[in-house]
Amino acid sequence: MKQTVAEQIHDLQKKLTEYAYAYYVKDQPVVDDAYYDQLYQQLVALETAHPEYQTSDSPTQRVGGVVRKGFEKVVHEIPLYSLNDVFSKAEIIAFDQRVQKTLGHAVSYICELKIDGLSISLKYENGRLVRGATRGDGTIGENITDNSKTVKSIPLTLTEPIDIEVRGECYMPKASFIQLNQKREEEGLDIFANPRNAAAGSIRQLDSKVTASRNLSTFLYTLADFGPLHVTNQAEALTHLDDLGFRTNQERAVCSTIDDVWAYIESFHDKRSQLPYEIDGVVIKVNDFSDQNQLGFTVKAPRWAVAYKFPPEEAQTTIEEIEWTV
Ligand code: NAD
Repeated sequence: MKQTVAEQIHDLQKKLTEYAYAYYVKDQPVVDDAYYDQLYQQLVALETAHPEYQTSDSPTQRVGGVVRKGFEKVVHEIPLYSLNDVFSKAEIIAFDQRVQKTLGHAVSYICELKIDGLSISLKYENGRLVRGATRGDGTIGENITDNSKTVKSIPLTLTEPIDIEVRGECYMPKASFIQLNQKREEEGLDIFANPRNAAAGSIRQLDSKVTASRNLSTFLYTLADFGPLHVTNQAEALTHLDDLGFRTNQERAVCSTIDDVWAYIESFHDKRSQLPYEIDGVVIKVNDFSDQNQLGFTVKAPRWAVAYKFPPEEAQTTIEEIEWTV
């Protein structure tokens, strides 16, 4: 029997919430990301066409992730956001048009690889690491200070005695992931579905020694508040993070046209399998901070950035046909 729009929306919200729980809380996804993304886009389209059925607890209105049992909660005074996804050049052009319409002028973008790990936030006081936290739901995360101290690429002391909160991605290199799963298989333990889930499971361990044994790494890419750095754009900010002792991803590029952005995406689509870490796309950010400030945020994501998601490397899940009408 054909579902009503309200039933379709409710059904998609329920399914996505269940999948998100398995992914963010259990670190054991039950469907692959491409399938999740497809259902999510269907929900976005239905809710956009029928906003009367959109609820504030819909997965489209919340940053995924909750605090796991056993972890102290951390309140992020400045929230961590997600990103809006795009899947084609046409959608990137539409994003650029929205940006130009709001700002009234053309902008440069910075393209960064979208590292497939989990978002973390590191707080430094007087140049010393005092707190590590997961993104959680964006406002409340998990305290992972002791575990972060075991990750070798996270500096315990910065090159300058400043107070900052740095954010970025904690990930598991492909080689460590293969080794870890081999070992788990030999020990008769469940294997991790992918390096992202392995990283999330490893940084959220109650015993820091386990985290230390997992060979995690990081790429930091932003600050909660750029005030202390006196930088005016993302490219300068990343260079400054390098100078402070953080590991940033060096594959970034400033692009002045969407054709250049697309060329960057295509080149990494081809090089993706050769990288020693997993990426699931490219993040395209307005480079200039005053432009970013003018564009602002939605409830879930910045209006000054989008994540282009690569098509799935291989179809792992049979996409079930959902009858839906917008
Ligand atoms: P996201 O992964 O789509 O994008 C936002 C995240 O990108 C940020 O929080 C940040 O951690 C990360 N990121 C990596 N490199 C970055 C960079 N250079 N600059 C800025 N951010 C960068 O969003 P999300 O909310 O973390 O997760 C949603 C995605 O998770 C979905 O699109 C889906 O693919 C996956 N997911 C899968 C399932 C499943 O069951 N398979 C369930 C829930 C979510």
